Amino acid sequence: MDKKILMVIIDGLADRPIDGKTPLSSAKTPNMDKLASNGINGIMDTISPGIRPGSDTAHLTLLGFDPYQCYSGRGPIEATGAGIDILSGDVCFRVNFGTVEGEGSVFDKTVTDRRAGRISETDELVKAINENVELDVDFIFKRGTGHRGALVIRGEGLSDEITATDPKSIGKKVKKCKATRDKGEKTAQIVNSFMEQAHRILDQHPYNKEREKEGLMKGNVLLLRGVGLTPQVPSFEERFGMKLGVVAGTTLIKGVGKFLKGDVITPPGVTGGKDTDLSAKIEGCIEALETHDFVLLHIKATDEYGHDGDFEGKKAFVESVDHNIKPLMELDPQEVLLILTADHSTPIMVKEHTADPVPVIISHEGVRVDDVSAFSEFEAYKGGLCRIRGRDLVNISMDLIDKSQKFGA
Ligand code: ZN
Ligand code: ZN
Repeated sequence: MDKKILMVIIDGLADRPIDGKTPLSSAKTPNMDKLASNGINGIMDTISPGIRPGSDTAHLTLLGFDPYQCYSGRGPIEATGAGIDILSGDVCFRVNFGTVEGEGSVFDKTVTDRRAGRISETDELVKAINENVELDVDFIFKRGTGHRGALVIRGEGLSDEITATDPKSIGKKVKKCKATRDKGEKTAQIVNSFMEQAHRILDQHPYNKEREKEGLMKGNVLLLRGVGLTPQVPSFEERFGMKLGVVAGTTLIKGVGKFLKGDVITPPGVTGGKDTDLSAKIEGCIEALETHDFVLLHIKATDEYGHDGDFEGKKAFVESVDHNIKPLMELDPQEVLLILTADHSTPIMVKEHTADPVPVIISHEGVRVDDVSAFSEFEAYKGGLCRIRGRDLVNISMDLIDKSQKFGA
């Protein structure tokens, strides 16, 4: 059997100390500690020292792709996450169904809700948009969960050098899309035509009239943001010669997986939230290893506890992860190289992502095992990996399983 790589990423796991302790350092983590003892340890700057990573850019980097080259905004990632097969040159947006009131053009109207009263059923509205909006170029509009969606505009000479139409707060008017450079003029005109037509169709739609009668907010505007031009990016398999599987419940990470043309696996019960079924996820991950060379397992909720500033919640969730990953410890270290790390820190006291480096363990037959015997921000740096960059992680792992090519003679 060919050797495999399993990369476990616990989102926002790392932290800054409060009274000398972090959720990870104070959690009881016998399985992770054992892995640290059996492996080589270090700390890692996922993007670069001092750069605060987004989860999407961090995951791209950890998968060996330079986000400064292949990431142009959240739009393309969201669009792939929503199930659209995007092509190089496509202009993609994240979309919210919102509510506007007022008279005249859509751009004269005021946003009264950015989520259309948390509208959840949008299939009919999405269908009406796809059937009735007419543009000079092709477009694909798909719903996401709840009030969310994704829009892709496809045609010659499009540009992402344009502004968003989402005013990002209520009580403001819908923003007209403007070119930020000459190149964006044509695309801005197309977007504004889309905005106007979409509003007319949605505002008159029977489903929205029905909502209005029931005292609910109409989903009568599409607010666009996160614009990005889809770059030419090779698939993970083209770049590294390994078949990629991504086990995740979070739309954004699923989008990263699809963006690199990996198989996205979401076992039943896996939600990408605090209520996720961790054991189902681990089971799905072990299954995925049978059919893939490289599996990324993403665990999300630690980041949410970080954003919430909930030290005890984060600590308890880390303990639950530790308990559930036991089956991964039983994988044959000669067959599977196991990486345990995070995509960034989400410190309790900051409630946002920070650039503090994250701990990383690589465990495999033949690694230079060091003296580190616990998994924490304070122990990791004493290990043999020292301080590495996220973009090198795939290369380091491929070298350790003897899948690397020699550079030179
Ligand atoms: Zn993250
Ligand atoms: Zn986050």
